[in-house]
Amino acid sequence: MKHLHKTTLFIACTLAFSSAVNATYQASEKARALTQDTILIDSHIDVPYRVSEKWVDVTQATEDGDFDYPRAKAGGLNAPFMSIYVPASLDDSDKSTALAHKLIDYVEAIVGRAPDKFAIAKSVKDVKEQFKQGLISLPMGMENGSPIQGNLDNLNTFYERGIRYITLAHSQSNHIADSSYDIRRKWKGLSPFGKKLVEEMNNIGIMVDISHVSDQAFYQAIEISKVPVIASHSSLRKFTPGFERNMDDVMIKALGKNGGVIQINFGSTFVSKLSQNWRNQMTTKRKALVEEAGQDSPLVKAFDEEYAVKNPFPFASVDTVLDHIDHVVELIGIDHVGIGSDYDGVGDSLPEGLKDVSSYPNLVQGLLDRNYSEADIKKILSGNFLRVWQAVETYADKH
Ligand SMILES: [Zn+2]
Repeated sequence: MKHLHKTTLFIACTLAFSSAVNATYQASEKARALTQDTILIDSHIDVPYRVSEKWVDVTQATEDGDFDYPRAKAGGLNAPFMSIYVPASLDDSDKSTALAHKLIDYVEAIVGRAPDKFAIAKSVKDVKEQFKQGLISLPMGMENGSPIQGNLDNLNTFYERGIRYITLAHSQSNHIADSSYDIRRKWKGLSPFGKKLVEEMNNIGIMVDISHVSDQAFYQAIEISKVPVIASHSSLRKFTPGFERNMDDVMIKALGKNGGVIQINFGSTFVSKLSQNWRNQMTTKRKALVEEAGQDSPLVKAFDEEYAVKNPFPFASVDTVLDHIDHVVELIGIDHVGIGSDYDGVGDSLPEGLKDVSSYPNLVQGLLDRNYSEADIKKILSGNFLRVWQAVETYADKH
């Protein structure tokens, strides 16, 4: 979450939101039933940080945000990875470690408040058993490796607490890896500690998440890792040329060879060049205005209120996201793609038809309409991700 370009400006976009567009994917009974009957894993949802910024009880229906229990149930969501997101501003401070612990506490509090609805999941087995019990599993992934602070004891502690993947870096190069968003390529990939960390993550059973890192860091991670890696919430650079945060075709092929899985990020600016251009233009214009008139100028206030009204944000659609899934399948087959929506992490930029966790049946409808078999759809909803997680567990058991 909190990708560099996420700003409060997006509040303005809501004004321009038009709800009319997505008539195409009204999920059928078949799509709904398939979604309910299949384990559905979404590998990146930013609930903990949302709750820490503005406390809300997600075990009940909530006004804001993209996730709560009733909507997750309606959408057939069974195992949303709770993102333990630590901002890059804390990278070189033990405050990052403390914040990660605090966010894990928040996840435990959700389960403590509603043990009849939620349970922590620390293994593939947990997810499968809790699915049978009708509980929503809350596995955890750490977005940004900075809380490790160069200390493998921290890695063990976070494993014990339930962290099952670590996104090596976030928006800046940290002590582990270079970030795709950071033009300083401090390590030219992974740091010496980062290389050791990947090995230790393999040994202990924590998945290596290459979302957010630089291309070089990605290639080094798959070279070192003895097991498949994940991209917990990334999309394809083919559709967003020049955006290194997404993966290009050569990387996707390398990921396929590695046996890994890319979990597609739904955010409009991740999947659509049009949406991304809109945001870049808006940000550039606003920045120029702030420099000229000052942050507190009424002109800036007027800009925030009017820009998106005058220039409606070009939302992506279910089809845009499906195009990304299709392209991965064209490149490396059906076994390497899944869902990493970034709900609660990308503001109001979500595509038409995929606005919150109740929307997954629309995506499934789209897959059915594009002639994906039920077996293939099950792989996308969880089969592929569970295969990787299982491989990581099996390797760690032997080491
Ligand atoms: Zn992110």
